Amino acid sequence: MAKMERCPICNVAVKPENLLRHLSETHPRHPDTANLLEELKTDPGRIQRRTAGRPLRVRRWQVLVLLALIVGGLGSYYIVQAASHPPSLPCIGGEGGQVYHWHSQLTIFSGSAKIVIPANIGLSVFCIEPVHTHATDGVIHIESDVNRLYSIGDFFGVWGKPFGSPTQMLVNGSPVTPSATVTLNDQQTIELHYDSFSP
Ligand SMILES: [Zn+2]
Ligand SMILES: [Zn+2]
Repeated sequence: MAKMERCPICNVAVKPENLLRHLSETHPRHPDTANLLEELKTDPGRIQRRTAGRPLRVRRWQVLVLLALIVGGLGSYYIVQAASHPPSLPCIGGEGGQVYHWHSQLTIFSGSAKIVIPANIGLSVFCIEPVHTHATDGVIHIESDVNRLYSIGDFFGVWGKPFGSPTQMLVNGSPVTPSATVTLNDQQTIELHYDSFSP
């Protein structure tokens, strides 16, 4: 059991670590309160006890240091990403593309397993490539600043994967001879089947 003290003003029994709070909350206007609080605050034992019971205080500089670490970490991640995957197509000036903005739905099977196509293929802090993904939904965004077409092979180039030898290729549901030169169009579906494919 904690040792009890008595409040010098009202004589109620108070735990030592609660006396400061009791004085300032119960007797805020008593003429002796200010002096008593000053005295109690200079008692190192009491300050320590109070501090030990306090909830964790997060200071502003600690938040800033944490933010700096996160931003720095992300920055170096993107730098490493950008350095290891130099853009295979010229960067566009901004999200959306000045000439057109199309979407093509790509589905890839490895055997019978549907592959998850990664998000942010072709995107870095330094470059938006005209053929890229935003999410893991398989939607290829084709956003061009220039009047030209891109192929599924261009997308694999941006991704950094060989197009390889699909066993089957469907464009808008119709089988075609598998080829990396198939043009990317708006509102198109492309389905590729491989014996084995690792994203
Ligand atoms: Zn985009
Ligand atoms: Zn888009």
